[in-house]
Amino acid sequence: MRRELNPNGCQTRVYGNRDVFGHQCNNKVVVTRDGKFYCRIHDPEYIKQKDATRRAKWGKEDAERNTMWDLKRARNDATKGLTLEELKRVTPDLIRKALSAN
Ligand SMILES: [Zn+2]
Repeated sequence: MRRELNPNGCQTRVYGNRDVFGHQCNNKVVVTRDGKFYCRIHDPEYIKQKDATRRAKWGKEDAERNTMWDLKRARNDATKGLTLEELKRVTPDLIRKALSAN
Protein backbone atom coordinates (compact mmCIF):
# COMPACT_ATOMS: atom_id res chain seq x y z
CA MET A 1 0.00 0.00 0.00
CA ARG A 2 1.21 3.44 -0.90
CA ARG A 3 1.22 5.62 2.17
CA GLU A 4 1.22 9.37 2.09
CA LEU A 5 4.51 11.04 2.91
CA ASN A 6 4.96 12.56 6.31
CA PRO A 7 4.98 16.30 5.52
CA ASN A 8 7.74 16.90 8.08
CA GLY A 9 10.18 14.41 6.57
CA CYS A 10 12.28 14.42 3.43
CA GLN A 11 9.75 14.57 0.57
CA THR A 12 11.36 11.77 -1.38
CA ARG A 13 10.08 8.24 -1.77
CA VAL A 14 12.91 5.73 -1.87
CA TYR A 15 12.87 2.14 -3.07
CA GLY A 16 14.87 -0.68 -1.63
CA ASN A 17 15.16 -4.34 -2.55
CA ARG A 18 11.71 -5.97 -2.75
CA ASP A 19 10.28 -2.63 -1.71
CA VAL A 20 7.78 -2.24 -4.56
CA PHE A 21 5.88 0.70 -3.14
CA GLY A 22 8.84 2.48 -1.65
CA HIS A 23 8.88 4.38 1.59
CA GLN A 24 9.63 7.87 2.69
CA CYS A 25 13.30 8.78 2.94
CA ASN A 26 14.29 8.66 6.62
CA ASN A 27 17.31 10.93 6.36
CA LYS A 28 17.51 14.02 8.47
CA VAL A 29 15.84 17.06 6.93
CA VAL A 30 18.39 19.80 6.30
CA VAL A 31 16.75 22.13 3.79
CA THR A 32 13.38 23.56 2.73
CA ARG A 33 12.55 24.13 -0.93
CA ASP A 34 9.17 25.64 -1.87
CA GLY A 35 7.85 24.76 1.56
CA LYS A 36 8.89 21.11 1.32
CA PHE A 37 11.60 19.44 3.34
CA TYR A 38 14.54 17.53 1.98
CA CYS A 39 17.55 15.73 3.32
CA ARG A 40 21.02 16.55 2.01
CA ILE A 41 21.11 14.05 -0.86
CA HIS A 42 17.52 14.65 -2.02
CA ASP A 43 17.77 18.43 -1.99
CA PRO A 44 16.66 19.39 -5.54
CA GLU A 45 19.38 22.06 -5.68
CA TYR A 46 22.03 19.53 -4.67
CA ILE A 47 20.76 17.10 -7.32
CA LYS A 48 20.79 19.86 -9.95
CA GLN A 49 24.33 20.75 -8.97
CA LYS A 50 25.43 17.13 -9.09
CA ASP A 51 23.88 16.69 -12.55
CA ALA A 52 25.65 19.80 -13.81
CA THR A 53 28.97 18.52 -12.47
CA ARG A 54 28.39 15.14 -14.08
CA ARG A 55 27.43 16.75 -17.39
CA ALA A 56 30.55 18.93 -17.32
CA LYS A 57 32.67 15.85 -16.69
CA TRP A 58 31.03 14.00 -19.60
CA GLY A 59 31.60 17.02 -21.82
CA LYS A 60 35.28 17.02 -20.92
CA GLU A 61 35.58 13.28 -21.54
CA ASP A 62 33.81 13.66 -24.90
CA ALA A 63 36.25 16.37 -25.89
CA GLU A 64 39.18 14.18 -24.88
CA ARG A 65 37.73 11.25 -26.83
CA ASN A 66 37.25 13.43 -29.92
CA THR A 67 40.82 14.68 -29.66
CA MET A 68 42.02 11.09 -29.45
CA TRP A 69 39.97 10.13 -32.52
CA ASP A 70 41.32 13.13 -34.39
CA LEU A 71 44.85 12.07 -33.52
CA LYS A 72 44.22 8.49 -34.60
CA ARG A 73 42.70 9.68 -37.86
CA ALA A 74 45.64 12.01 -38.43
CA ARG A 75 48.07 9.21 -37.72
CA ASN A 76 46.24 6.93 -40.15
CA ASP A 77 46.25 9.66 -42.80
CA ALA A 78 49.91 10.37 -42.23
CA THR A 79 50.89 6.72 -42.60
CA LYS A 80 48.57 5.87 -45.49
CA GLY A 81 50.28 4.05 -48.33
CA LEU A 82 53.35 3.06 -46.33
CA THR A 83 54.58 -0.50 -46.55
CA LEU A 84 54.89 -2.63 -43.44
CA GLU A 85 58.65 -2.10 -43.43
CA GLU A 86 58.16 1.65 -43.66
CA LEU A 87 55.50 1.57 -40.94
CA LYS A 88 57.99 -0.08 -38.59
CA ARG A 89 60.20 2.97 -38.91
CA VAL A 90 57.37 5.44 -38.28
CA THR A 91 58.07 7.57 -35.25
CA PRO A 92 55.99 10.31 -33.64
CA ASP A 93 58.42 12.76 -35.22
CA LEU A 94 57.72 11.48 -38.72
CA ILE A 95 53.99 11.72 -38.11
CA ARG A 96 54.34 15.27 -36.82
CA LYS A 97 56.38 16.18 -39.90
CA ALA A 98 53.81 14.63 -42.22
CA LEU A 99 50.97 16.45 -40.46
CA SER A 100 52.65 19.84 -40.63
CA ALA A 101 53.22 19.31 -44.36
CA ASN A 102 49.44 19.28 -44.92
ZN1 LIG B 1 15.95 12.19 1.51
